[in-house]
Amino acid sequence: MLQSRPARPDGSLSVSRPAPLSDDDCVALLQWMLRHDTTALQAREEGFVAELAKYLAERGIASRIIQGDEGRANLVASLESGRPGPHLVFCGHCDTVPLGDRVWQKSPFGAEIEGGRIHGRGSSDMKGGLAALIASFLDFSASNDWSGRLSLAVTYGEETGSEGAKLMAGDRSLDPFDAMIIAEPTSNRVVRSHKGALWLAFTAMGRTGHGSMPQMGLNALEMVIRFREGLLKLDALTASDPLLGRPTICLTRLHGGTQVNVIPDRAVAEFDMRTLPGQSHEDVLAEVRAIAREIEADYAGGKIVVEALNSLPALATPVESPLIHAALETRRELGMPASEAGGASYFTDGSVLQAPGTDILILGPGDPGEAHQTDESLDLSDFLAARLIYTGIARRFLCSPE
Ligand SMILES: [Zn+2]
Repeated sequence: MLQSRPARPDGSLSVSRPAPLSDDDCVALLQWMLRHDTTALQAREEGFVAELAKYLAERGIASRIIQGDEGRANLVASLESGRPGPHLVFCGHCDTVPLGDRVWQKSPFGAEIEGGRIHGRGSSDMKGGLAALIASFLDFSASNDWSGRLSLAVTYGEETGSEGAKLMAGDRSLDPFDAMIIAEPTSNRVVRSHKGALWLAFTAMGRTGHGSMPQMGLNALEMVIRFREGLLKLDALTASDPLLGRPTICLTRLHGGTQVNVIPDRAVAEFDMRTLPGQSHEDVLAEVRAIAREIEADYAGGKIVVEALNSLPALATPVESPLIHAALETRRELGMPASEAGGASYFTDGSVLQAPGTDILILGPGDPGEAHQTDESLDLSDFLAARLIYTGIARRFLCSPE
């Protein structure tokens, strides 16, 4: 079984040898990451990326910390080969979802290893993938037989709507790049497309009244129910994609009403819609707003406000992309079971960071079903395999054939 390297007494990463990392070093890096709480809404990513910058600096790699909102920051580091070639980016988010209410069997920040698995919040989504990317990045820092540029991009706030990636896209820290690997958990399978997310808030304003005289009021909750019925019949929901199936929409939050005998004059409903590549969120919103206008017409004197809380487009990288080809070939070379490139229903930072002409691959260790769960854990052999896969893909991508 893998032995972990002890952390320094101050809790910082222990550094004892130059790149490339041994398997034990990789595990120690992951353990440090898991012990550093970066749960969403705690806004502690700034300290995490500052420690990571030190870790890279001790290995001769300069990085840039890009400050976001208070306590939050992205990190970008680049390796230049000195030879012309493509720009490949390794990308991972360093925040995790909160712990939830259920009691954990193992400490969520203990990074305990048992039976070949490492336990902790973020082990599979996605500190495992991020640590494997960093190990592979360090493999390249130690060699000079490649061309082009390799960057490492660590984002904050992915779990709360890709806030760090939005900052990164806005300040063009990575521009221009040709291809990106995002280490979200896919059980190390090749994923070349994913759905987009359109989060909607619907606020209905009616008129209050006595519960015994509903005809005197305008019931905002009933307006919400009508709205939901309309949403389920959206034309946009009839689209389909060979890898991703159909779009989905679900009611995820609902507030309304004051007491049982009062007609509610205000209700707010939130919906999570997942869209397909090629679907314009502007077009979907136009359809949604038309439903709201119809309801307003039926509830004379009522008012409806539709708001897009977040709009993250879907992602699709063509199957013939050199990046996808490199990923499938690398898996084959490493003797992994043959599989086609697939799709994922969740979104990634790729929604925000994609640009015309860029290819994005989603591939990372960890079962996507483990993500966000109580007692999240990661198989260490999958974790170590991911590092080999990343290095294999990047070699194919960055090493010229001559
Ligand atoms: Zn994730």
